[in-house]
Amino acid sequence: MVSKRLQEIPVSGTVNISNMVSQLKVEGVDIISFSMGEPDFSTPENIVDACVESLRGGFTHYTPSAGIPELRCAIADRASSESGIPCSPNNVLVTPTKQAIFMIALAYLDPGDEVILSDPSWVSYEACIRLAGAVPKYVPTRFEDDFIMDPANLAKAITKRTKMIILNTPSNPTGTVLPESTIKAIAELAIENDIYVMSDEIYESIVYDGAKNTSIASLPGMFSRTLTVSGLSKTYAMTGWRVGWMIAPEADILAVNKLQTHSITCCTSFTQPAAVEALRGPQDRRDEMVAEFKKRRNLALDLIAEIKGLECNVPQGAFYLFPRYDVHMRSVELAAYLLKEGHVAVTPGAAFGPSGEGFFRISYATSEDQIIEGFSRIKKCINALKGH
Ligand code: PMP
Repeated sequence: MVSKRLQEIPVSGTVNISNMVSQLKVEGVDIISFSMGEPDFSTPENIVDACVESLRGGFTHYTPSAGIPELRCAIADRASSESGIPCSPNNVLVTPTKQAIFMIALAYLDPGDEVILSDPSWVSYEACIRLAGAVPKYVPTRFEDDFIMDPANLAKAITKRTKMIILNTPSNPTGTVLPESTIKAIAELAIENDIYVMSDEIYESIVYDGAKNTSIASLPGMFSRTLTVSGLSKTYAMTGWRVGWMIAPEADILAVNKLQTHSITCCTSFTQPAAVEALRGPQDRRDEMVAEFKKRRNLALDLIAEIKGLECNVPQGAFYLFPRYDVHMRSVELAAYLLKEGHVAVTPGAAFGPSGEGFFRISYATSEDQIIEGFSRIKKCINALKGH
């Protein structure tokens, strides 16, 4: 029997859909997938070459647990120059982003501690909070407000047990980039109430329309209480490489590194020199990919606008849309219907928290042809459901 702790954790709503998609694909069904949160691009050549070179050069052993010094340095340089986070290499732990989030939950949360997060939120935060025995406290957000958390609502959710606030900007699943004014107000609340912030900025470079991501750790008085996580997966089409990081005060890095030494020991060795190349090498592929995502976002928004029964805000980051539908069905049922009848995979909004009911998530990190075909299928299904 698995532990009670694990029994209480539901299987990820995103994984459920992926499993159904895999099954249908095995049966030979042609599925358009809008459900995977990963770029369809290949990793840029210069990064692949750096990896091959390090493998051929025999860089295949354990590395220092916190990461090779060159990479810690490259990450610190990137975070200070692009995000204004006042950090040095000793403030960096190299670890897959998801692993960072998991270790932070184990390292900082005791049973009964409360963690405030925006609703809807990415699925794994709640699982990590619960695995640590802590309690998630969702602050609802609204479509009408572009899913931006209202600091006044956050303030109401704070209790004596609040240990941490989780921010994710740009957001998965909504693509929302939190405005600087909101982040400043949240920072004030964190300082006043002596609360940690974990800021997940894995989509920080994927922003459009002149939007700029604000790192809360760059604000006065915040570095000492912020655990920033990010990584290469989304920005450089490197999901399978498993390279990310955590940036925090040195004492926090040492604490979380204790968990790292007792779990994965270190990140994969030969991906680390390649990660240095990603951060320090030419950035033109990154910029091209972001430009391509923007074109796809605009295309998807145009196609949604043509479907009666769907409406969507214009998110300024990540590669997700979170349209609202006016069909009388729960989002899990609608996603199952779209998959079975339309052969198009989306993620039900309710997988991301109670406020996600009535919505579904589209990942547009796929080709324009797929986007056009996928929305044509969605249109037929929604029309059929609405009796048009
Ligand atoms: N945070 C968010 C918001 C994400 O969307 C993801 C990936 N889906 C992660 C963290 C995890 O990233 P990685 O796969 O690089 O560990």
